[in-house]
Amino acid sequence: MTEPLVARMRDFGTTIFAEMSALALESGSINLGQGFPDTDGPASMLDFAVQAITSGGNQYPPGPGTIELRRAVSGHHADHYGLSYDPAGEILVTVGATEAIAASVLALCEPGDEVIAFEPYYDSYAASIALAHAKLVPVTMRPVAGRFTFDPGELRAAVTPRTRAILVNSPHNPTGTVFTRAELTVIAELCQERDVVAITDEVYEHLTFDGVEHIPLATLPGMRERTLMISSAGKTFSVTGWKTGWVCAPAPLVTAVQTVKQFLTFTASGPWQLAVAYALRHQLDWVSALCSGLQDRRDRLMEGLAAAGFGVLKPSGTYFVQTDIRPLGFSDGLELTRRLPELAGVVAIPTQVFYHSPERGRHFVRFAFCKREHVIDEAVARLKRLSH
Ligand SMILES: *Cc1c(COP(=O)(O)O)cnc(C)c1O
Repeated sequence: MTEPLVARMRDFGTTIFAEMSALALESGSINLGQGFPDTDGPASMLDFAVQAITSGGNQYPPGPGTIELRRAVSGHHADHYGLSYDPAGEILVTVGATEAIAASVLALCEPGDEVIAFEPYYDSYAASIALAHAKLVPVTMRPVAGRFTFDPGELRAAVTPRTRAILVNSPHNPTGTVFTRAELTVIAELCQERDVVAITDEVYEHLTFDGVEHIPLATLPGMRERTLMISSAGKTFSVTGWKTGWVCAPAPLVTAVQTVKQFLTFTASGPWQLAVAYALRHQLDWVSALCSGLQDRRDRLMEGLAAAGFGVLKPSGTYFVQTDIRPLGFSDGLELTRRLPELAGVVAIPTQVFYHSPERGRHFVRFAFCKREHVIDEAVARLKRLSH
């Protein structure tokens, strides 16, 4: 038989997450690789989902999503960001942020169009762009004064007449950077000058630390009209398995995305939408508590990593901390993460897998701190072995 998989998807075989999670299981290591919480979301929200199921909310919701969730998202964006989106026509509910991103890229890009993404980037971006027969143009983020950022000149140079869109993920996975207003202004000006659409991935919008503020790109002058603003419930409410996301934009952009989305999945599951609508209205205090707990666990893990000999880059948001492994005498994160179970009984992710050109991220390793306190403490105790 000929190779069943189309050529453009052949580079997207088994992911490092599967390899590392299997390694954690077989070696009895603590898994700080994959980024999902090991505790549940707010109990009243879970109850709401159960109730939605047992009281008949089980048939197809409308294509754009339940009106309850679209109204709740609209209210949330108005309250938090002063952004107004009409639940009728400017908000589309999707199967997680992942589907929103894929449908946006598929809706916008002709074959050969270019999409800029800040490298290192979330793994679904490259696959969505490949599916669209478009071309990913990476702009590399590098540590400057302890924080990953990009060079405005490099970003400017990456824009060509074929640039259709730019993917902007802030708070940024896997670096933990939360873009400043100055950084967002550079992006916003370029989008307007060169007629580029922004696709923003804001799934960590509520998970920022040390009082750092998340600023949606759509709030900058001239940007609401050219931004597809995407988020989801998974990270905000610790329900990554619910796969309930949304995209907000002016009607013509949302209509374009919905035209694609309706033939990918038609609609997203109903019960979760009702529960998330409730949580967006009534459980944001729970999210604040989650966030301060996360900040505490970030600090414990950072301290432990530094004590073990890693160079540690402090994240301002997300679930992740980046480390530079060179002070430990290693230069290849893939080699270190494959040996880490035997060396220290801990699993992490080599950051190079998030790069277009892996060599640019070879000396970084990503650790997740979205785990219970005793799990973090045990990981820290084990990592001490590295310093002997
Ligand atoms: C987790 C994550 C997603 C996926 O969100 P879903 O709602 O689960 O599809 C998208 N982008 C980033 C940066 C993530 O970390």
